[in-house]
Amino acid sequence: MITLSLYHTRVTKTSKHLILVPIRYIMKPMDSLTLNFLGTFHIELAAHPVTRFGTDKTRGLLAYLVLEADRAHRREKLADLLWPEQPNPAARHSLRQALVRLRDALGDAAPAILTITPATIRFNATTPHMLDCAEFAGLLQTCQNHAHHRLEDCAACIARLRQAVELYRGELLQPLFLGDSLPFEEWMLVRREALHRQALETLYTLAAHHETRGEYTATRRYAARQIELEPWREEAHRQLMRALASEEQRSAALAQYDACQKILAREFGAAPAAETQTLGEQIRNGTFCAIAPARSQRVALNVSDPGATLEAAVHPSDDDLEAQCAGLGLTALLCLAQGRLAEAHDYQLRALALQTRLGDRAQIAASHFQLGVIAHKQNDLPRATETHRRALALREQIGDKIGIGASCAALGQIELQCGNFAEALTHLNRALAIQRDVGNRLALAALLARMGECARGQGDEASATDYFRRAAEIQ
Ligand SMILES: [Zn+2]
Repeated sequence: MITLSLYHTRVTKTSKHLILVPIRYIMKPMDSLTLNFLGTFHIELAAHPVTRFGTDKTRGLLAYLVLEADRAHRREKLADLLWPEQPNPAARHSLRQALVRLRDALGDAAPAILTITPATIRFNATTPHMLDCAEFAGLLQTCQNHAHHRLEDCAACIARLRQAVELYRGELLQPLFLGDSLPFEEWMLVRREALHRQALETLYTLAAHHETRGEYTATRRYAARQIELEPWREEAHRQLMRALASEEQRSAALAQYDACQKILAREFGAAPAAETQTLGEQIRNGTFCAIAPARSQRVALNVSDPGATLEAAVHPSDDDLEAQCAGLGLTALLCLAQGRLAEAHDYQLRALALQTRLGDRAQIAASHFQLGVIAHKQNDLPRATETHRRALALREQIGDKIGIGASCAALGQIELQCGNFAEALTHLNRALAIQRDVGNRLALAALLARMGECARGQGDEASATDYFRRAAEIQ
């Protein structure tokens, strides 16, 4: 209990003098104050809940004093903040009453917690206390100051972020309602929004971290929590869709896409962004490709600490250029999957530079291909065409049949988008012949569907229907 009377004194004898030592300086941790404001309003003193605040105004007063503890607050300012509708003498009176309730609720500890003068009131921040929003902000600040290469790959920071989202049980001061105190509500909303954004970003980083490791259950958990906090958050819907599709839960992934569409339509009367639509389409037509950790054990090993891999890439040694290439290429893929296109481009260029040193033409072609994919996503169609053509030329030189098929399919898609239907059909036909040889049914169906779109673009409805029918038969 708090009966230790924080403002009582202990008598200490040194030489001839009696010295009075305020008890709070020798307060044990268990006597300390716990203030939880995230998703709740829960106060504890010496591990006992403090509940007798009486009104939300009293709770609001304590919350304001705690969160604005850097200064003493003038009584008239506090009165205006909490009772803006009342004339100042009445508001001052209401403040005095709230202060009485607050002191009663805090009991013997009140004088140590609050510094009250006739003119001002202040929360005494030197009182040992735990404040959940301060802990939350502190954990994020530590991550920001930590010297790592990438937050997503730093185990210590990921642990801190996990702790932070555990603390974020909900919006700041969620249960408080001070509808008639507009200035207070405004102050609270600004603070609430800042924490809300930080929580969303933290959850996004955690989901991305787990996605790159193929830990899809955790990816789903952190993505779903973002959607709970902000139902229209498209990047979280995409994380969830990719995780579900990677777990081969195709219909659940498509249902998630559907849910995303509905929420956006309901909230904003808008359709999902192009990136979300493309992902939905890829999942539907079977061209979605998970970045599974099993893609390459060797690469997985090299990027188990991508910071180190990237460090090595920044200072290339001749030891293991191939591993560095693989690390950079994989990082580019991960960035691409997360929609961080500028970063993906940068990593892929660095991979290309190393591959050029190694003289591996198949890998050089693959890098050009990836750069084409990135440019296409960035909607830079001329650059996408140029890099895909470069990849195609190299693949023709070395006779990489599968690579040629992929390059032709990509070029066909771009020409189709540009409305150059004849050129598109030439590329798609070539890709189709290769996929027929390889026997990739899903790729065949996707190609036939694109060819149907070309025929429709040319006004040849009969051929279009025929292509679509053949695509449907294969699926
Ligand atoms: Zn770190």
